[in-house]
Amino acid sequence: MNSDRFKDWVLPSHEGPMIIAGPCSAESESQLLGTAEALSSHGISFFRAGVWKPRTHPCSFEGAGDIALEWLGKVRRITGMKVSTEVASPIHVEKALAAGTDFLWIGARTTTNPFMVQEIADSLRGTEVPVLVKNPVMPDLELWIGAIERLARAGVSRIGAVHRGVAMSGKSLYRNSPQWQMAIGLRMRCPELMLLCDPSHMGGARRYVKEISQKALDLDFDGLFVESHIEPDCALSDSAQQLTPEALYEMLSELVIRRNLLDKSADGQSIEQLRARIDELDDTLLSVLAARMEVSANIGEYKRTNNIPILQSGRWDNVLSHVLARGEEYGLDRDFVSGIFALIHQASIDRQNEIVNPSE
Ligand code: PEP
Ligand code: MN
Repeated sequence: MNSDRFKDWVLPSHEGPMIIAGPCSAESESQLLGTAEALSSHGISFFRAGVWKPRTHPCSFEGAGDIALEWLGKVRRITGMKVSTEVASPIHVEKALAAGTDFLWIGARTTTNPFMVQEIADSLRGTEVPVLVKNPVMPDLELWIGAIERLARAGVSRIGAVHRGVAMSGKSLYRNSPQWQMAIGLRMRCPELMLLCDPSHMGGARRYVKEISQKALDLDFDGLFVESHIEPDCALSDSAQQLTPEALYEMLSELVIRRNLLDKSADGQSIEQLRARIDELDDTLLSVLAARMEVSANIGEYKRTNNIPILQSGRWDNVLSHVLARGEEYGLDRDFVSGIFALIHQASIDRQNEIVNPSE
């Protein structure tokens, strides 16, 4: 892909990170105006609000719909902010552009569907509107890049990307797994593309928004696409992850903008990017270990109920020879693998022992 295509993203130049903020969904005129005025008074000049919300369950609030485009227009007139909404079909594009919406975004669910992205791209031909593309819900960098390419080929010249993490099964602290590597991959493939992070959908809870935002800035993201609601506890969607405009302003003023991020290692990634990868892999290791211990506990229950001894002769030998063979395929040192699995095995036995002999 020719990255020059993305050079002239012409939202006004800004000092520091680009901040786009606003509620998850457009609920009422007073909610939109109240939120926008408070954000604007804190110097934020780009507003987001979902007029049409893609929700998992049909009875959830799906945004106020077409009428909210008029409210967004009012936000623009009263505050001077640039306003945006999510589009998931050509009809949305047509309506949003007719209402003068300044920029658009394509949501994570839509990015997964090349047919729909193509239809949206076709409906944008000949327009000048900037478009942000959220990463798809699954960890598929090519699908993300493909959506960006479809827009670029339709002549959309101002394209940005928003990294919002990906849905993963299993335990995790955040609503979405950060998968920073995917965003770093995008940055390496399309260095001219504006790259923002959405810490709200990634974290899923207010308490994580700051740490995720800081991490994104440390990884050289250009800014944040973040949810803010005048009364988060009353929000009709994503209530737990939205910040009041004041809390957002406070959070933003506490973020540290580091300057020396561009020192690259041999493979072109900065030390922060490589460390982020390590942190992410460590989190994965911990969640896999926790899941393994849970299965061990289930086995402990089974052994207690059926009066089976904890140690089965031969089982450990099988486990060890299996992991040693696998480890060799991965190029891992034999002593390293056997040492780690001895510890894991011991922890598993200890856990089962607690279950089988609770009084000990
Ligand atoms: C949103 O930003 O309102 C949204 C629905 O996010 P995502 O598409 O990332 O789930
Ligand atoms: Mn939301």
